Amino acid sequence: MVEKVAVLGAGLMGAGIAQVTAQARYLVILRDLQMSLVKDGLQTIENNLDKTDPENKDKIMNRIYGTTDLSELQQADLVIEAVVENMAVKKQIFAELDNICPAHTVLATNTSFLSISEIAASTRRQEKILGMHFLNPVVNRPLVELVRGLETSDDTVAIATNFLAAIGKEYVVLKRESPGFIVNRILIPYINEAIFIYGDGIATRDEIDLAMKMGAGMKEGPLELADSIGLDTIYSALEIFFNEFRDSKYRAHTLFSTMVRAGYYGKKSGRGFYEY
Ligand code: NAD
Repeated sequence: MVEKVAVLGAGLMGAGIAQVTAQARYLVILRDLQMSLVKDGLQTIENNLDKTDPENKDKIMNRIYGTTDLSELQQADLVIEAVVENMAVKKQIFAELDNICPAHTVLATNTSFLSISEIAASTRRQEKILGMHFLNPVVNRPLVELVRGLETSDDTVAIATNFLAAIGKEYVVLKRESPGFIVNRILIPYINEAIFIYGDGIATRDEIDLAMKMGAGMKEGPLELADSIGLDTIYSALEIFFNEFRDSKYRAHTLFSTMVRAGYYGKKSGRGFYEY
């Protein structure tokens, strides 16, 4: 049974995961490389909780323990890794976790695009590793994608689904890993098609967004959405799909590559398909 959960990485995703876990009354260990990063993560959670009543906020914050010391994770029943999207870093962390954590501990990764099985292969407990893909913003997105690596056991999936039910998340379980899982596998080519219509000069930016909002019931247009996700992020995702599937349908339009090279990253850089 999961009682204590450790979250690795106190960044955008790690802070959100720690928050929703502590809200569901689990004890959480939040670990980052430096205490200042841990504190930033804790501050983000406190700010998110500002709207709840102070007593409740204190209770939630008291369940989260910040640390830089990886050895503290020996008490964790479930570890959710949300550090930088870098295979070498993740492999090293999983190898260390494998040495530190008790045999029963399930090790989950929040990776968006890296291979779960490759991460798992850096441990001697491949059956206890799985992908647990929370979406941004964690607090408001109900869905989590659970992803099996080649050796993930049914028990591990059951532990993960029980945990997600307890923290009030919806989940889908992918039978095996595949780049982009479900959400990004559909979303990225959808956005890319809109970029091709734009890049080929078939319709204007505003017409493309209006068409999908008014004609297909989307809350926001694909180019607006691209700007909020980050054009650099979409570009890297396309590269991953392109290399993995060797399928030209995932190629980027040359106008899009040029925009990314020019630093048009969307909202975060002040300029993408729109100006901010
Ligand atoms: P982020 O840069 O906001 O946070 C990463 C944190 O990990 C940083 O605070 C960094 O100091 C820390 N870190 C690096 N090495 C570490 C280590 N060895 N031990 C502990 N902490 C370490 O990144 P993020 O956006 O939160 O992404 C984290 C993971 O979640 C990535 O794998 C990413 O692909 C995935 N993800 C991101 C999103 C998103 O929209 N940002 C959505 C779903 C999944």
